[in-house]
Amino acid sequence: MEPNPPRAKTARQHEGADAASAVETHKPTRPPGRFDVPVSALAPLFRARLPRIHRCRIDFDLEVSARPTARVLGGYYRSRRLVRIYAVDRDEGRRPLEELFDTFLHEVAHHLEYTEPESFSARACGRVPGRMHSRLFWRILGELKYRWICIQDRPADAETR
Ligand SMILES: [Zn+2]
Repeated sequence: MEPNPPRAKTARQHEGADAASAVETHKPTRPPGRFDVPVSALAPLFRARLPRIHRCRIDFDLEVSARPTARVLGGYYRSRRLVRIYAVDRDEGRRPLEELFDTFLHEVAHHLEYTEPESFSARACGRVPGRMHSRLFWRILGELKYRWICIQDRPADAETR
């Protein structure tokens, strides 16, 4: 997927400085001691959430990578039916859980556009050459996000954490 709009990253200005000063100027953006779900638990967690949003007709592989990336949040590899999520930001460490889930839904929307456009009242995949995100893609992603928000608003149905 394409990265979010660029955020100000003060640490980047210090690239090329010696290691010691780079460490000093790297300002933490989140409070220490914040709980992060282990990277290994993310794929099972996201897989458990998905059927409440949409039941995929065709399964996909899911890989959550701990390799730090600067801009890339995830990817969908059509030929392998593989969804890959990058859990760690090079500068800021672990990406927040809901941001990762957002990326997951984005990549799942790519999978669904290819494998079951008819589930979203489309005759075929809407992808046009040279454009990564079709109108159909955004409709699918919007639908997935909307369903997820509706689930969040129903406390009786809330998932156990
Ligand atoms: Zn994308």
